[in-house]
Amino acid sequence: MEKVKSECIYCGVGCRLNYVAEKGEIIRVEPVKDDDVSEGFPCLRGLTINEVIRKNRIIKPLIRETKEEDFKEASWDEAYWFIFNHLKDLEGNEVLFIPSGKTSNENAYVMQKFARAVLKSNNVDGCCSRLCHANTISALNMVFGINGSPGRIEEADTRDLILVIGSNPASNYPVIFSRIVRAKAKGTKLIGVNSPLNETSRFCDINVQVKPDTQLVFINGLINELIRKGVPEDRKSIQGFEQLAEAVSEYTPERVSKICGIEKELFEKVVETVYSSKAFGIMHGMGLTQSRNGFLNVVSLLNLLILKGGVLLSGRGEINVQGMGDVGGVPPGFLPSLVSRDRLEEAWGVELSEEAGLNMIQALYLNPVKAVFACDVNLALSLPDLESLHKKLKEMFIVLLHHHFNYTVNFANVVLPIAMLIEGNGTITNWERRIRLVRKVVEPPGEAKQAWIIFKELSKYFGCEKLFPYSDEKEISREIVELVPAYRNVNVEEVYSGEDGWGAKKPVFTRYVPVHYEGVDYPVSKKYPYIMVAVRTPLLFLHNELTSLSETLMNANRKDIEACYMNPEDLKREGFSDGETIILSSPCGSLKVRVKADATVISGTIKMYIHSEKTPVNRLVPLNYTFNTFTPNYKSVAVGVRKDAS
Ligand code: SF4
Repeated sequence: MEKVKSECIYCGVGCRLNYVAEKGEIIRVEPVKDDDVSEGFPCLRGLTINEVIRKNRIIKPLIRETKEEDFKEASWDEAYWFIFNHLKDLEGNEVLFIPSGKTSNENAYVMQKFARAVLKSNNVDGCCSRLCHANTISALNMVFGINGSPGRIEEADTRDLILVIGSNPASNYPVIFSRIVRAKAKGTKLIGVNSPLNETSRFCDINVQVKPDTQLVFINGLINELIRKGVPEDRKSIQGFEQLAEAVSEYTPERVSKICGIEKELFEKVVETVYSSKAFGIMHGMGLTQSRNGFLNVVSLLNLLILKGGVLLSGRGEINVQGMGDVGGVPPGFLPSLVSRDRLEEAWGVELSEEAGLNMIQALYLNPVKAVFACDVNLALSLPDLESLHKKLKEMFIVLLHHHFNYTVNFANVVLPIAMLIEGNGTITNWERRIRLVRKVVEPPGEAKQAWIIFKELSKYFGCEKLFPYSDEKEISREIVELVPAYRNVNVEEVYSGEDGWGAKKPVFTRYVPVHYEGVDYPVSKKYPYIMVAVRTPLLFLHNELTSLSETLMNANRKDIEACYMNPEDLKREGFSDGETIILSSPCGSLKVRVKADATVISGTIKMYIHSEKTPVNRLVPLNYTFNTFTPNYKSVAVGVRKDAS
């Protein structure tokens, strides 16, 4: 029996875990007592990884010419030729690459290098980043000049007040939330601003249920009142203060109360509490970012952060979503995390395309490409307007690199088996930009390989193998440190000895950027009178592809993830009975679901979980996104309800 210290495979908190392995199999997962991140208390998802790692695995390359055919098993050589023959005549801009936040920095880096240097495609766009926190990164870049969070996890311990807005850390970031609960026992106050209420709400001293997509009004109103009550001189001298004060002056408590649908007295209580705070913290999530106003929402939140001199504690979704973006998993022109094109050409010794790359919304819906390389993602469930997406995916040549069979396999022409994160060596970067070593715990099953090895091998078929001279992950890490400015000070040797490294975190500048509420964009009508809010539940992760394989997690989960939830009054008015099957519809699709009464849901809204493949909530989400980052609006979708006549 051996014990290997490595990383969790799930969320962006990035806990270290001890994997106990015997005869090549993980038999148990244990906490790492001295882990700075988890403090020896990782969550149940991490501790049950042994239950999911070997089930439902892809163990051989699979190919098929058309989507109607069954897959046939292929050798790696056959699969590579198959890919080469389908891609050799395409232009670079006709191919999209989707790297993953679930694999290592080294895998993501090599994938984007293959895209840019071999196929001359700048269409590189990480799935989790685009769909979740592209607005956060973009706003941080505008306000602080950095592409990562300036906050650190231990700062949660020293806050006297934490504003949790559009986020449910009790469910999504249990390790950060444990620190918050501990701080609360010592007097830290918690304000929750969410719609609907969630698992975090019952820990909050003040709960504010704002109407969906009105948080910007709430934040601007808060800033306005804080300025009116008095701001320390050093915060007033920061660039943009006068403009901010003028811009927020129209967000009076009366207006906040009206637009957000909250009592004025409740808002004033929040103002008083925030004003009195001496050590302020903010935690935000997708309730703020996955909206047409997502970018403006986060900019406004950062204005509040600067005004209060607070710290940002917001986590990120997948274990390496921060690192994947850092090492080039985004189109150039959008947060150029790598060095300039000239420097890349010099370092790699090839000419690169000058074209601005497309992001995944552009490349899949607006200006569809002909081929897609998708690594460790379930894009056929994750994206909006699934019906139209599926039609488009059927017309594209799709290469899916994955470790488990998932829904997206149905749309692939080629499926290549890859190793999971802990079946290879490398590094990840957590939400704090803390760079951590991933140690191989067990060998991948069957013929699965690390993604970087697959791209290295495939490059030979394009005559470009010289671009990938690596014999191990450490050599790739060295190249990353050379070419990613934010990682310039990282000591690769230290990271590979198990010490955490740090990417750049210090703001390059600090400025207020005034932003205005531009109204909501859900056309509620007689036909679609409700606003659907998509949420997550504790224990389950993303679309539940992996967590559904854990008996422990599925037994512990108490939520019906295939139902939708309505306020009891709405349920009664519609004439539905609790548990009845109804039809939910939106302008782009419909779903048959059970409806359940839930008093925590605001009247006029409907809550639905994102996790089930059987009730894919994104079938109802139209293609509607933040104007500059293309992050879809998943959180406020106009829907109609009717009885199921069948
Ligand atoms: Fe894994 Fe996130 Fe849980 Fe930590 S908090 S054990 S990283 S899922």
